[in-house]
Amino acid sequence: MKVEIGHGSGGKLTRELIEKVFLKHFNAPELKPLQDSSYVPVNHKKIAITTDSYVIRPRFFPGGDIGKLSICGTVNDLTVSGAVPKYISVGFILEEGLPLEELEKIVESMAKTAKEAGVKVVTGDTKVVEKGRCDGVYINTTGVGEVVRELSPLSSEPGDVVIVSGYVGDHGTAISLAREAFEIETQVKSDCAPLNSLLLPLLEVEGLRWMRDPTRGGVATTLIEFSESSELGVRLYEEKIPIREEVQFISEMIGYDPLYLANEGKAVIVVSSKDAERALEILKSHPLGKDARIIGEVTEDFKGVRLITKIGGERRLELLEEDPLPRIC
Ligand code: MG
Repeated sequence: MKVEIGHGSGGKLTRELIEKVFLKHFNAPELKPLQDSSYVPVNHKKIAITTDSYVIRPRFFPGGDIGKLSICGTVNDLTVSGAVPKYISVGFILEEGLPLEELEKIVESMAKTAKEAGVKVVTGDTKVVEKGRCDGVYINTTGVGEVVRELSPLSSEPGDVVIVSGYVGDHGTAISLAREAFEIETQVKSDCAPLNSLLLPLLEVEGLRWMRDPTRGGVATTLIEFSESSELGVRLYEEKIPIREEVQFISEMIGYDPLYLANEGKAVIVVSSKDAERALEILKSHPLGKDARIIGEVTEDFKGVRLITKIGGERRLELLEEDPLPRIC
């Protein structure tokens, strides 16, 4: 067997790779929950640690670039884990021939985003490979955060509600449009943004259970994983899921399901029904959360994710086999 593109999809093949290769040899209990960050004890205090690599194509796209994305992704993975993002390391793999001006633009964008998010880049590494051996620039970022509150899908209960912080599928749509020369005039931009100022206030909401940024694999994959970890089911209501008309239109044209498209500035939040209004109020008071809404509920009636369609039908959402859009982040 060889590595396939689908192994990077965040879906079924990624899962297989994690289970059959990585978890076979890496077996620290801290790794086991397979969440966006791990909680590790340092001097009797817990810190959160996360890492991500960025290989997005193209490097510059409407709404962002690979540099901004690399900071946002790591800030968001710490934030959804209930941690205040603090320090970031940056590793660059550069291809011989990359114009320095372009590298500087990327680094400038990283610095600007880090400043906006209140995180410090404190260490880094640079490697260069020969022309043709990588695609311009790849970036790895690792982040460390101070844990305010540990969140786990296991704390969820039947009757909890599922909230999404805004419109779904923008990043995936913007990238596919930036890549292909479709003759479409569109305003769709990547939603790439650091979410710490939006989400950290939610940690004060008692009934908050769990959060995740639905990046690669989209809202569908995120909730399927939530369901597997929590051993509960999720009922989603299609009519309640905020999807821009343009995103819906373009998805239908290209044959994507927006529920599986990547987002880089959104969160899926599970909260008790009692505290749902309070959580929505907090989200809506922030510009990045003004379109937040309840899209579903947690149930013990079944496992997995079922979508109640606009016409009242029911469809089970499954992990994808293939990667609809490789190199999306
Ligand atoms: Mg994440």
